[in-house]
Amino acid sequence: MRAFRVTCPRPAAEGPLELVDAAVPEPGTDELLVQVLACGVCRTDLHVAEGDLPVHRPGVVPGHEVVGRVVRRGHRATGFAEGDRVGVAWLRGTCGTCRFCRRGAENLCPSSEYTGWDADGGYAEYTTVPADYAHRLPEGYTDADLAPLLCAGIIGFHALRRAELPAGGRLGVYGFGGSAHLATQVALAEGATVHVMTRSPAAQELALRLGAASAQGAADPPPEPLDAAILFAPAGELVLPALEALDRGGTLAVAGIHLTDVPVLGYRRHLFQERTLRSVTSNTRADAREFLRIAGEHHLDVTTVPYPLDKAGEALADLAADRITGAAVLIP
Ligand SMILES: [Zn+2]
Ligand SMILES: [Zn+2]
Repeated sequence: MRAFRVTCPRPAAEGPLELVDAAVPEPGTDELLVQVLACGVCRTDLHVAEGDLPVHRPGVVPGHEVVGRVVRRGHRATGFAEGDRVGVAWLRGTCGTCRFCRRGAENLCPSSEYTGWDADGGYAEYTTVPADYAHRLPEGYTDADLAPLLCAGIIGFHALRRAELPAGGRLGVYGFGGSAHLATQVALAEGATVHVMTRSPAAQELALRLGAASAQGAADPPPEPLDAAILFAPAGELVLPALEALDRGGTLAVAGIHLTDVPVLGYRRHLFQERTLRSVTSNTRADAREFLRIAGEHHLDVTTVPYPLDKAGEALADLAADRITGAAVLIP
């Protein structure tokens, strides 16, 4: 099969991906062999390919937004039949026994493993996934449209839950990329009022088109106080205006895996009146399942840009240079 490996991490413009002719992987006893139909290109793939993330598996095949079809099962893999359409996401293993796993916070498991980092992912014609970590996918979407739901969608949803938005509440969304525009649609479907803060006029326009009540500059105050806010932009300085925009008792969740330093906070100005600042780390399988169920009930608007699998390197370079509007998806 055709597969792309990261043999030597380096900047995307210098071509870190190597196209190889690899053997179709053998599924382990509890794994599914999946024929890849579509694989999203996520910013985390860029961190793997460029070496921002330490190498966990030399020569790894990146890609953790995989939509595929089950073609074979290990003899102990249950829950899926051959021919089923399945999703393979970032989280692919946890220990199940540590204090975090036992209390339902497997996203914090210190022994967790990830697709396209610890194990080969979806920049290939076939991949494998432990059956317990594969996801059922909602109807009503193309393979390409489902792909970005499997990382950007799930993480944005986990951030929305971490922001503890009350029913019918007022949500502020800071930054409006792939994850944010999916979380916004879930919040709107659940009856929230959403205010979007982003510097890009095109993103502001998209926010209003999707149903946001207002859209303004990245650090501008929203037109009313917020019950909850999510910071999607990786800009630590935005923590200050976002906290200031919160009503009493409001929560700000920082969604990114990376944030520039947060400037000094003033206790009275940014935190007093029981405002909360919290981070968001990965997601649990329960988050993924709940999000995919909601995506089945409320059709989410997804903007994708297809690339043939052979152009994976180009897709990564385009992402690195901010040349893509929407989510890049590789189609084998
Ligand atoms: Zn654990
Ligand atoms: Zn991702």
